[in-house]
Amino acid sequence: MTALSLDVQKLSNYINGEWVEVNNTTAVINPATGEEIVQVPLSEAESVDAAVQAAKKAQKDWALVPAPQRAEVLYRIGYMMKERKERLSQLLTMENGKVIEEARGEVQEGIDMAFYMAGEGRRLFGQTTPAELKDKFAMSQRCPVGVVGIITPWNFPIAIATWKSFPAIVSGNAVIWKPATETPIMAYELAKIFEEAGLPKGIVNVIFGKGSVVGDAMVHHDDIRVISFTGSNDTGRNIASECGKQLKKVSLEMGGKNAVIVMDDADLDLAVEGILWSAFGTSGQRCTACSRVIVHEKVKQTLEERLLAAMDGLSIGNGLDESIKVGPIINQAGIDKIKRYIEIGKEEGARLLAGGYELTEGDHQKGYYFAPTLFTDVSAEMRIAQEEIFGPVVSLISVKSFEEAIDVNNGVTYGLSSSIFTNDVNRVFKAQRDLDTGIVYVNAGTTGAEIHLPFGGTKGTGNGHRDSGIQALDVFTEWKAIYVDYSGKLQRAQIDVES
Ligand code: NAP
Repeated sequence: MTALSLDVQKLSNYINGEWVEVNNTTAVINPATGEEIVQVPLSEAESVDAAVQAAKKAQKDWALVPAPQRAEVLYRIGYMMKERKERLSQLLTMENGKVIEEARGEVQEGIDMAFYMAGEGRRLFGQTTPAELKDKFAMSQRCPVGVVGIITPWNFPIAIATWKSFPAIVSGNAVIWKPATETPIMAYELAKIFEEAGLPKGIVNVIFGKGSVVGDAMVHHDDIRVISFTGSNDTGRNIASECGKQLKKVSLEMGGKNAVIVMDDADLDLAVEGILWSAFGTSGQRCTACSRVIVHEKVKQTLEERLLAAMDGLSIGNGLDESIKVGPIINQAGIDKIKRYIEIGKEEGARLLAGGYELTEGDHQKGYYFAPTLFTDVSAEMRIAQEEIFGPVVSLISVKSFEEAIDVNNGVTYGLSSSIFTNDVNRVFKAQRDLDTGIVYVNAGTTGAEIHLPFGGTKGTGNGHRDSGIQALDVFTEWKAIYVDYSGKLQRAQIDVES
């Protein structure tokens, strides 16, 4: 196991291309070992204002840089991330706990996003369209919004930041970024890359600190015109209502209660692999994690047996060890929340088949570990089948038909990801039509999004926006309609049209 160290003991804010120290700090803890990695600033609202003033000034010039040249910086950022991929991945595992294989995957997502959005520098397509009058030209184009705020969670500390900041940068905005206090190291490393890649000063500013202070100051700052937020529903709902009062654009990506459907004709071994990967990867702390398995009653018992056997083989520990499959939970609060749901599940009458307890002995003594857990005989209305637990806990719900499976899948307030295992082509097409989530997988688990497709959910998961894909540009741009009349006379639309 390699243990990397940082070049500083205390992180600083990155404002206008300068590293600005903050006196008040708190420790960043490695969830696998309980050890302190670095100190992170607890900034005040003034830091946000300083960053916004710098960003406003810098953005005016940046917006005038041709988009293909803005993209050149993103290409450099992508190549630098690629060169540093292993370092970034190891630091990511240290601050977040996800196993190194997954950390490498997350960093790769950021690299992919850099190159994909750099390509947008030569597209950023608008429309040209016929005008309804003679000698008149009509088109629409994307324009930057100005200064945008991005607020990111701890569970994907680098990928989500790239989904938001890269489209913002290529479209000519300046960014104020507040990373999660739990996982600030990816933000520090990415800010260094921005600096070395030659991104002009003030175009990305990183302010570390509590959501209730720094995040709140961003939400209420008059000169931040967009908030792009990923995190929990409670926080997102508050942000949305505060933004609503100010008529501020807000993009929300929030929780999930994602299900894998296993039909009676499914390849059960493949389904077990898919469930294992999407339920226990990142210890279930993914917004797209599978936390419900909706299984046809005819194959329920066989699936249970195979799942239990497969779960036996999951090694749990420090994710820097390449042989480990399940890493720690982010912190004690995360463990406590999972424990509460285990009790709720038992009280509701669900049957615990495996796990259900915190691991505190031997190698697990110092970090925050929870045993992969399987409940069965769960009914669709139980709280463990409705609410986001954010841990390695799966609930098995038995159904009698395909139609019932779809209803159970859709019967939650969230709408992020869903999956179906079946070999029946008719069911495949009906499922992709009827599952009401923003992401649908066929014969794969609920995780594994690719960055060039829209990422996000329906219903309580979001508010209609999408991260990544071409759709991410909609968050960070305004549409402008432009009419050029070259007739030399006043032509009135809808009135002077010859009929
Ligand atoms: P969280 O507690 O809502 O925090 C997310 C971010 O918001 C953090 O940076 C946090 O700052 C900040 N924040 C907290 N209070 C705030 C306030 N009053 N104003 C402005 N910002 C504030 O969520 P989390 O526990 O970090 O993340 C887990 C959640 O994210 C889960 O529900 C998961 O499903 C969801 N998620 C969704 C997606 C998706 O794309 N749909 C992807 C990943 C995760 P602090 O650093 O102070 O906490």
